[in-house]
Amino acid sequence: MPKKTLETLFTEERIQQRVQDLGELITQDYRGKELTILIILKGGFLFGADLCRAITIPTYIEFLGVSSYGHEEKSTGIVQITQDLKYSIAGQDVLIVEDIVDTGRTMAYLLANLKTRKPRSIQACTLLNKESKRCVDGLELAYTGFEIEDHFVIGYGLDDKGQDRNLPYIGYYPS
Ligand code: 5GP
Repeated sequence: MPKKTLETLFTEERIQQRVQDLGELITQDYRGKELTILIILKGGFLFGADLCRAITIPTYIEFLGVSSYGHEEKSTGIVQITQDLKYSIAGQDVLIVEDIVDTGRTMAYLLANLKTRKPRSIQACTLLNKESKRCVDGLELAYTGFEIEDHFVIGYGLDDKGQDRNLPYIGYYPS
């Protein structure tokens, strides 16, 4: 059966504009500090690459590999670190950069895990947020690009069974 057509949710232009706005906001908030931008792989790689170029204060860029879905569309609830940090984040101002927060389990796990490493501060930034799907209490997201409804979204870092992360826009298959 041929694949259905992907419905565009956010165009490339809309994403880039929002990323610029977030970059300016983060720059203002961390003015006078050095920021460690922690890009979560794989989904956060495009957002992280664009966001860090929209931030104009001094930064360190680090990557953390996390797996929570495998190749399925549903969260397994088990978060696995597939590629850990090479350096200590103790005493640093850290910003976690994620593609999407859905149930919130991954971000809650990351915040809890990384706080034990004694950063000076730690905040979360996500491009997309599915607030209606939240399964954890009290998750604080300092920066959110867009609130979205319960669609399985694809593109701009987000995969469809491993593929289509390279699409410059974000879309979903209508049911
Ligand atoms: P959570 O732990 O918040 O349920 O899920 C976080 C992770 O699940 C995200 O980093 C992302 O990898 C994956 N995920 C959640 N929703 C979607 C979605 O709509 N599309 C894609 N491609 N991945 C998603």
